[in-house]
Amino acid sequence: AAKHTGRNHFRLFDEGLRKRLEMRRECERGLSQALAEGALKVWFQPIFGCGGRSATSLEALVRWHHPVHGWVSPPDLIAAAAMAGLTESLLRFILEQVCTMLCALRSRGFHTLSVAMNVSPREMAQIPVDEIILGRLRALGLPTTVLEIEITEETALDIEAVQGKLLALSRAGIRVALDDFGNGYSSLASLRQLRADRVKIDRSLVTGLTEAEDKRELVQAVLGLGRALDLEVVAEGIETADDLATLQAMGCPFMQGFHLGRPQPADDILDSLETLSDRPDPVRLRGA
Ligand code: C2E
Ligand code: MG
Ligand code: MG
Ligand code: MG
Repeated sequence: AAKHTGRNHFRLFDEGLRKRLEMRRECERGLSQALAEGALKVWFQPIFGCGGRSATSLEALVRWHHPVHGWVSPPDLIAAAAMAGLTESLLRFILEQVCTMLCALRSRGFHTLSVAMNVSPREMAQIPVDEIILGRLRALGLPTTVLEIEITEETALDIEAVQGKLLALSRAGIRVALDDFGNGYSSLASLRQLRADRVKIDRSLVTGLTEAEDKRELVQAVLGLGRALDLEVVAEGIETADDLATLQAMGCPFMQGFHLGRPQPADDILDSLETLSDRPDPVRLRGA
C-alpha cells in the first residue's frame, strides 16, 4: 500500500507512526515498573442472569493509568507487554488479582459467583497458560469451575494455535467463552473446535438494537444458535433500559453493559455484592 501513497503521504504516515512507536516504547519501559509498584489494576464488571437483577459472574478487565499518557487501552497494554517480554508477568499478575477476588467471594459466602478472565490468542500461543492457571488454582485450593476464560478470535489461524491449551483448560473444568462473537472474525467452526460453553455477542450488534432491525435479527440468530448448540449466550454492551428490555423480551439468558453495571475496582465490587447478587446461602456459609 505504501508504494501507491506517494512521497508526501508516506512522510505523514511515517511521522504518525513515529509518535505511536514512541508512545509504545514509553509504555514498554513503564510497564515493568508499573507491575512492580502495583500501579496496574484489575477492575471487575458484573454479568447478570436473565432477570437482570442478580450477577452470575464478574469479568476481570485490566486497567493502567499511565502517568503521562493517561488510561492505556487494554489491547495496547497487552501489545506493550508482548514487546517488552512481559507477557507472562502480566498474565500472572492478572491471574493473581482474579484469584484474590475468587477467594474474597468465597470467604463472603458467594460460592457460585464465578470470575471471567480475558486471555488473548497471542498470550495463549506464547506461554503455558493452561499450566499456569491450573497450577495457581490448585495451589490456592480453588475449584476450576469458578473460573472462565474469554478468548477472542482475531484471525482465522488463531484457533488452531490455541486449541490444545483451551481444551486442556476445558477438560479440567474451566469454562470457555468465545468473546466478541459477530465482530467479523468469529466463526461457527471455532465454537465447535473450542468446545465453547458460552458465546458473547459483540457489542456492535447489541448497543442500540432496539432501534436497528438488522441487529435484532442477528442477535435473534445467535440466540437460536445458542439453544441449538447448548451454548450460554451473553449480550455485552447494554447501555440503555430500552435495549435491556428488548433483550429480555427476546429471551437473552445473560447480560452485561454500562446500563447494568460498569467495570469497578475490586473493593467497590466487594462492597456492593449484596445488591449485585443473591444473598449467600446461610447453610453454605456455615460449611465454608
Ligand atoms: P472485552 O473482553 O469484549 O471486554 C468488554 C469491553 O467493553 C471492556 O472494555 C468494557 O469496559 C467494555 N464495555 C462493557 N460494557 C460496555 C457498554 O455497555 N458499552 C461500551 N461502550 N463498552 C462496554 P475494556 O476494559 O477497555 O477492554 C477492551 C478489550 O481489551 C476487552 O474486550 C478484551 O478483549 C481486552 N482486555 C481487557 N482486559 C484484558 C486482560 O486482562 N487481558 C487480555 N488479554 N485482554 C483484556
Ligand atoms: Mg471479554
Ligand atoms: Mg467482548
Ligand atoms: Mg472486545
